[in-house]
Formats: sequence, C-alpha cells, structure tokens
Amino acid sequence: MAYYDSSLGHQFINGQQVRGLGPVLERVNPATGKKLLDVDTASLEQVDQAVHAAAEAFTTWSKLTPGERADHLLAFARELEQHADEIAAVETAQTGKSIRMSTQFDVPGSIDNVNFFAGAARNLQGLAAGDYAGNTTSMIRREAIGVIGSISPWNYPLQMAAWKILPAIAAGNTIVLKPSELTPGTSVLFARAAKDAGLPDGVINIVVGDGPSVGAPLVRHQLVKMTSFTGSTAVGLKIMSMAAESGTRVHLELGGKAPLVVFGDADIEAAAHGAVAGSTINSGQDCTAATRAYVHSSVFERFTSRVAELMDAMVVGDPTDPDTDMGSMISQEHLQKVSSMVQRAKDQGAQVLAGGHQLEGDGFFYRPTLVVGAAQDSEIVQQEVFGPVLVALPFSTDDEAIELANDTPYGLAASAWTKNVDRAMRASAEIQAGCVWINEHILIVSDMPHGGYKASGMGKDMSQYSFDEYTNVKHVMISHDPAAH
Ligand code: NAD
Repeated sequence: MAYYDSSLGHQFINGQQVRGLGPVLERVNPATGKKLLDVDTASLEQVDQAVHAAAEAFTTWSKLTPGERADHLLAFARELEQHADEIAAVETAQTGKSIRMSTQFDVPGSIDNVNFFAGAARNLQGLAAGDYAGNTTSMIRREAIGVIGSISPWNYPLQMAAWKILPAIAAGNTIVLKPSELTPGTSVLFARAAKDAGLPDGVINIVVGDGPSVGAPLVRHQLVKMTSFTGSTAVGLKIMSMAAESGTRVHLELGGKAPLVVFGDADIEAAAHGAVAGSTINSGQDCTAATRAYVHSSVFERFTSRVAELMDAMVVGDPTDPDTDMGSMISQEHLQKVSSMVQRAKDQGAQVLAGGHQLEGDGFFYRPTLVVGAAQDSEIVQQEVFGPVLVALPFSTDDEAIELANDTPYGLAASAWTKNVDRAMRASAEIQAGCVWINEHILIVSDMPHGGYKASGMGKDMSQYSFDEYTNVKHVMISHDPAAH
C-alpha cells in the first residue's frame, strides 16, 4: 500500500478508512507553500459513530489479559518499523520539519513508545496489602476507564498520537483521537498500521476536523469518560470547562516557556550547544524548547556570542534534504506571528544577535534567532513564541537566577547548566517545572514522565506514571474471620 496518498485526509472509524462528510480543508506543504492534500472533516454523526465503535470495542479489549494486549502492541511496533521511512516522509511533508528529525526522532520515538507500553501493560498491577483494619486484606485494582477522547496539536503529530494512544490502550481503554486539522496524516497512518498489525477494530479511531466542530463534540460526548488533551493553555482551559459540564476526567499537556539557566561555572561550549539544540528543535515549535536563557553576567558575552555563531551556521531550508538542520514553520500565519513578536521586541529596544528574519521564497522559514536586551516583563520573555527564538538575559546571583526562571505562568520544563552538584541539586528542587534537566536541554524518553506544573497542565504522558491518568484505582477490602475455621 502506498502510505502517502489522498486518503491521509480521511477518518479512521471502526477499522475502516472513510471519507469525512464535513467540510473539506485544503492543506499546503509548509516548506513549499504548495497544496499538499484535501482534508475532509468528520460530521457530527461520524464523531458519534467513532465513539460508539470505541465503546463497543471496549467490551472485549478491556477483558484481554495484559499479555494479550502486549502481544498486539508488539505486532503494532513491528508493523510501524516496516513502514518507518514512508511515515517519516509524510511527517515531514505535513509539518515541514527536517527529514533528519522525522527519521531519527519522531518515528523511532513513537515506535519506542509502542514497545515501552507493550512492556508496561504487563506491569499495571496495584498494591496488595493486608490488615489495615485488623482481619482484613486490602488490594488495589487498576481498572480501565472506558472510551478516551483525545485531542492533539500539530507540532509532533505522530509522537503526540503515540503519547495519547499507547498508555490509554495498554491499560485496556479504547480511544477516539482528533489530531490537529493541520496535520492529520500520520495519525491516520498510525491507526492504519495498528489495523494491519491485527489490533481489533474500534480500539483506535481517528476523527479529523477543527476544534470547535469535531473536538468539542468529542469532549462532550456522553460515552467519552475522559479527555486527554495536548495543545495551548487557552484551548486546554476551554476543554477543562467542557469536561466539567459532564464531570469527566481531563488530562492536560499545555504550553511552555522553558528557562535555561547557565551558571558561571558551567561548561559554556556545552551550554551553548544545548541552548541552540534546545531552542531550534522542530523550528522551536516544541513545548519544552529552551526559550529564556538566564546567564551569569561573568559568562554572558562568551555564551551569547557562541550561541549566535552556532545559530548562524545552521542550515535552514528544504526539509527533505538530509543535510538540513532546521525545516520550516507550520504555516504562513504562524511564521507571521513569530516574526511580529521579534519585531515588537526590537521596537521596545531589544537587539537581535542572530537571525531575526524569514527566508526569501515560497516556504515558511524563519532563521534561528537570538535576542538580548529584552526586559523580563516584556512579551517576548513572558509569552510562548513557539518559534526558533531564544532570549538571553544576565543574572548576578543564584537566588536571582531561580527567581527569574520561575517568573512565568508556565512550568513544563527547564534546564540548569553547572558543574557544581550543590547548585544542580538546588536548581532541580527549586525550579517549578515537570522536568528539570541538568547539563542537557531536550532529551525525552518513553520510560520517564512528561507533564507540566502551573499553566502547563496536569497529569503525565509516557512512563508508568501515565497509567495514573488512564485507570481508575479501586480499593477492594476483604474482611475475614480467623475464628470461622
Ligand atoms: P491548539 O490549542 O490551538 O490546538 C490543539 C488541538 O486542540 C487541535 O487539535 C485543535 O483543533 C484543538 N482545538 C482547538 N480549539 C478547540 C476547541 N474549542 N475544542 C476542542 N478542541 C479544540 O494548539 P496547537 O497550536 O495545535 O499546538 C501548539 C500548542 O500546543 C503550544 O501551546 C504548545 O506548547 C502545546 N503543546 C504542548 C505539549 C505538551 O506536552 N505540554 C506538547 C506539544 C504542544
């Protein structure tokens, strides 16, 4: 089967790829500005069909043994491996990200997630313990919740599909995923590969369309018992209030504004490389991307000039070329938003030491950008830019560095760069974020939890911790009478 075809813009309901009956949206390839495909969207009736298919599948999928579910997931991973190159090509075509990134990060990362949850499915047990009330035995059952409605963003379409689908189905739930209407292709491929690997129909369903017309009815559907959302904080809050109307659970992975703190004793060469990799990954369209570099004043000049040099050396352009370091932004509108934010920072007195402009031509490319001289309370320091833009600000004391790092509504990820173990331990304890890297900024693994503090959300993706979201915890207490025997 040719994986890359017009049916990527279709729905995947109850094991079948079907045309959406809602309005048709045209998608362009962001690296060329040319039409890529027509995306036909789901009607309300199709959203309902998908949820009913998931509810029907739940009755048998949730009864499988963990080992049986694990076998299905291992077969799924093997199927994905066979189509890795085709899936990577679609990911690059729909997002504009470099093919190097799709082949070395997005696709293997997603397959690793499937493999991880095949193993994790067999370790979903609760605690068994006795005698909390005398002559009783307590045990904990972890039970699947039912149909999960999931909504994902456009920045890592394949990985977000994996992060949402795998913990849900490994725990015995079934799912209806609504990917971003900008990038539905690899979510549809993902579901297609699951079907080809033998997963029962209805366990994974994909409905395509925009948020208000397809996402909202999914959240509000009476058979959907939980919504798992990744996207902006503004939309996440809307999802939360929709779910509150029916009293269903929510898991929210939202925006970020990650600080990168460089102490005076840090390895500046490593920190500069980490800052560039961390701020330009996926064209900066990454919720954990390094966006605010707080740098000790004794090394500020050395750090910023090295970062500017490394940014200037980056190859930006055709994402299908394996030599390209950074591809395009997702859309013309988003490019415009990033570019205007940098312009406003300049208007307010900030200086641009690298980049700060888009590329000539048809695609939506923006050069890696380093901004200095912005105020802590300015838009570019406080708001999520979601582009390849790093703002560097100096600090004098450790107390000040930690205070500045925490001076944000967000709390998804952060990094601290130091050779001093006491500083590293203090930073890891005091920075308010779901992940604090030390001498690293971006590594994410299936085995470890990902999720935010504060306005960055609630709950965890990946790792065993994600089962806390996707299961109900039941206490069973057995009373027994020793005198009865
Ligand atoms: P977005 O919030 O605009 O959209 C996310 C999804 O929500 C899309 O599928 C969209 O169609 C849907 N949606 C929009 N309005 C809706 C509504 N009223 N009802 C139901 N669904 C609705 O986000 P985006 O622009 O696609 O993605 C970028 C954002 O995602 C950034 O803020 C980024 O930080 C965040 N993000 C967070 C994580 C994380 O793990 N925390 C990961 C990736 C992206």
